[in-house]
Amino acid sequence: SSVALPKIQKAIIIDGVSDGYDVIKYKDIATPTIQTPNDIIIKNKYAGVNYIESYFRKGIYPCALPAILGREASGVVVDKGTNIKNFEIGDKVAYIGNCSMAQFTKIDNSMIMKLSSDSTNEDLKLYAAGILQGLTALSFVTEAYEVKKGDYILVYAAAGGAGLIFDQLIKARGAHVIAVCSSDEKLQLAKENGAEYLINSKTDDILTKVMEITDNKGVQAAFDSVGKDTFHTTLAALKNKGTFVSFGNASGPVPPIKISLLTPKNIKLLRPSLYAYTKDPEDWNKYTTELFSLIQTGALKIKINDAVSLEKYAELAKKLESRSTTGKFVLEIPQ
Ligand code: NDP
Repeated sequence: SSVALPKIQKAIIIDGVSDGYDVIKYKDIATPTIQTPNDIIIKNKYAGVNYIESYFRKGIYPCALPAILGREASGVVVDKGTNIKNFEIGDKVAYIGNCSMAQFTKIDNSMIMKLSSDSTNEDLKLYAAGILQGLTALSFVTEAYEVKKGDYILVYAAAGGAGLIFDQLIKARGAHVIAVCSSDEKLQLAKENGAEYLINSKTDDILTKVMEITDNKGVQAAFDSVGKDTFHTTLAALKNKGTFVSFGNASGPVPPIKISLLTPKNIKLLRPSLYAYTKDPEDWNKYTTELFSLIQTGALKIKINDAVSLEKYAELAKKLESRSTTGKFVLEIPQ
C-alpha cells in the first residue's frame, strides 16, 4: 500500500535562462502523483550534481520552464502504478531520471536499480553519486570507443566527477591515460586514479605534450567533454584512424564543422549521450550489474565531497562552473 505523500514539497528549479545563478530557486512546488500505470514515485535521500544542469540553465540544451533540476538520485519507492511489478513500496533504489533535485520524483520504470534492503545512508549516497557518471564512463569506454590494452587515451577534466571514473576504467583496461586538467593539484588526483601522463592546460601546450608522449603518433581515442575550446586540438592529437568522443560543452558547444576535417586521418567522430547506451533494458541490466560489481568490490572508487543540503545547490553550481572542484558533489534531501 502506498504512503500518503504531502501535497507540497521542496525542490530546486530554474525559472529562466541565464549564465548567472539568480534563476536558480529553492521552492515549494506540487508533489508528483501517479498518472500512468508505469509511473514510480521515489522519496529522494541524495541527489547527484552534474555539469549538465548548467547547460539547461544557460539554454545550451532547451527545456520547458520552470524546470526542476537534477538527473539522478537514490531513495525509497513510495508509490507506484499498477504495471510496476519489479519494485515494491519501501524498496531502496538509485536511478537516472529528470527532476531529482526534489523531495519526491516521478520516474518511469526504465533507468532504476534496486539496492539491497540493508543499504545504509552511505550506500545511498554512493549510488546517487556514482550512477550517472559511472554508467557514462562505463558505456563510453565499452561502446563509444572500446578501450584496449596498450592504447593511449586522452581524457579532459580528468579530476572531475566523470573524469576520475574514466581514469580508473581506462587504466583497468590496460591502456595509458593522458590526463588534462587546469591545475597540478587536479593532475595529482587524476594520477592517484590511474592517469599515467599529466598535462596542465594552463601551462602546457596540449598537442605538443600529446605528441611527445605518443612518439608523434597521437592517441587512439579522446574523451573530450570541454567542447568548443578543445575541438581542434583534440582532432590534431588523434592518431591515424583514431576515435573522437565529444561528449560535453564545459567551454561551450562545438560549432558546426565540415565533415571533411575527418578525412585526412579517417577519424571516427561521436557525440554520444549516456542515455542511448543505457535506456534499453538489456543495456541497463548489463551496465548496472557491471557498475554495481566494480563499486562493491572497490575496483572503482567514487570520490564524493561532503554532502550539501538541497537548498544550497546554487553555491555548488557556481563552484563547479568556476573549475575549482574535483570529484563528485551530492545534495542531501530534507526528509
Ligand atoms: P566536472 O566535475 O568534470 O566539472 C567540469 C570540469 O570541466 C571542470 O572542473 C574543468 O576541469 C573542466 N573545464 C574545462 N573547460 C572548462 C570551462 N571553460 N569552464 C568550466 N569547466 C571547464 O563535471 P561532470 O563530471 O559533471 O561532467 C564532466 C563533463 O562530462 C561535462 O562536460 C558533462 O557535460 C559531460 N558529461 C556528458 C555526458 C553525456 O552523456 N554526454 C554524461 C555525463 C557527463 P579543469 O579545470 O581540470 O579543466
